[in-house]
Amino acid sequence: MKVMKFGGTSVGKPERMHQVAQLITRDNEPKIVVLSALSGTTNTLVSIGDALAKGDKEKAKQIIDQLEGHYHAFILSLLLKDATRDKANKIISEHFEFLNIITRISFNEALNKDILAQGELMSTKLFSLYLEEQGIKHALIPALEFMSIDANDEPQVPVIRQKLMPVLDANKEVGLFITQGYICRNSKGEVDNLKRGGSDYTASLVAAAANCTVCEIWTDIDGMHNNDPRVVEKTVPVEQLSFEEAAELAYFGAKILHPTCIWPAQLEKVPVKLLNTMQPEAAGTVITQEAGSVGVKAIAAKDGIIAINIKSSRMLLAYGFLRKIFEVFEKYRTPIDMITTSEVAVSVTIDNDQFLATIIKELEPFGTVEVDKEQSIVSIVGNDIAQTQDILSKLFDALKPVPVRMVSYGGSKHNVSLLIPSGEKQHTLKLLNKGLFGLN
Ligand code: ADP
Ligand code: ASP
Ligand code: MG
Repeated sequence: MKVMKFGGTSVGKPERMHQVAQLITRDNEPKIVVLSALSGTTNTLVSIGDALAKGDKEKAKQIIDQLEGHYHAFILSLLLKDATRDKANKIISEHFEFLNIITRISFNEALNKDILAQGELMSTKLFSLYLEEQGIKHALIPALEFMSIDANDEPQVPVIRQKLMPVLDANKEVGLFITQGYICRNSKGEVDNLKRGGSDYTASLVAAAANCTVCEIWTDIDGMHNNDPRVVEKTVPVEQLSFEEAAELAYFGAKILHPTCIWPAQLEKVPVKLLNTMQPEAAGTVITQEAGSVGVKAIAAKDGIIAINIKSSRMLLAYGFLRKIFEVFEKYRTPIDMITTSEVAVSVTIDNDQFLATIIKELEPFGTVEVDKEQSIVSIVGNDIAQTQDILSKLFDALKPVPVRMVSYGGSKHNVSLLIPSGEKQHTLKLLNKGLFGLN
């Protein structure tokens, strides 16, 4: 059994969905196909929720009507037979009726999650109708029956396995399962999700839960590139990454993978492949236990970082100082990404500003607190980079013109992280592309 996950652009046009149908029927290996919403849909659903949160029902209604028009036009090109088109239009109308009902009742966060779930529910139903029209035997299995998160909003592989296996067993003769990415149920049984980009996470969790041979992530690019292709012109795909390297790149901003989607595959040692729907024969990237080679593999950048510096002469030779500082962040469930210390000061970075004001207030008794917003973490990821001669000299040579605020090195063998002002990101990524990879 294998997992094949197709992202928003891979299902965003009727002809792409046709192509996905071809890709999943190229061999007879049993598979679970995880689909995202059509590209742009989740962003639109977010804007519906935003309008309703502001009480602007008229705007919400306008966005809903426009999106509905898009789906009915999509159906016209996706399906050929009148009977299937009628069926599809009826299903889509029901989903939009649901959205319209929501605009008429009082809005809350749980309803917002229901709105966000509509994208994956609709894409999988439309795809299933296309398969039906093509006479391709399959089972559409509802993710809401087996994908779940616990009271801490964390998915648990054994819990998902326990719910998924009976669903697969019930359709044993089929061998082709279609399901929704992203959506799940929370500990209260409500509809919830695995955060933006979470379909990758669904794929990896399902692959781990069903002990799959491979988890294929099909997207619009031929694998993990050495640098962010949205920022840097010349980038090249990386052939092989270890789970650790891929996890660091995903966490530190490589959008091709959801930030936490690697751990389930790593837990059950399921190889992950990053492949291109538009170029199915391209080698892509293979992610396994082994790193394959030594040296720098790729660079990623994460925006929206806040640096907090706490300076205190009392830190000098004091023990227990760091613990007290960390306890403040723990109390407000705010994870720290980077940390550097000197004899009298400690700098940390966070990306969640929900409790920033309170955290600063509670840190003030420990010393002078300074906060810098609009920072970016640039992560240089590879295998044994610490051991690789001349990497650090190349790195710092390339960085000469950049005002680097923090450097973190030595925490893992796979990563050197830098903190820079976000305004310097593009420049920094270009300098590193040349300095570390010789690419202009
Ligand atoms: P999907 O909708 O299939 O989930 P995403 O848009 O989430 O696709 O991820 C693919 C995109 O990730 C690419 O189009 C590319 O712009 C972006 N990306 C950012 N960093 C990288 C990288 N290092 N390698 C490849 N793609 C990257
Ligand atoms: N549709 C969701 C999003 O756009 C999940 C995903 O595509 O991975 O975030
Ligand atoms: Mg994605």
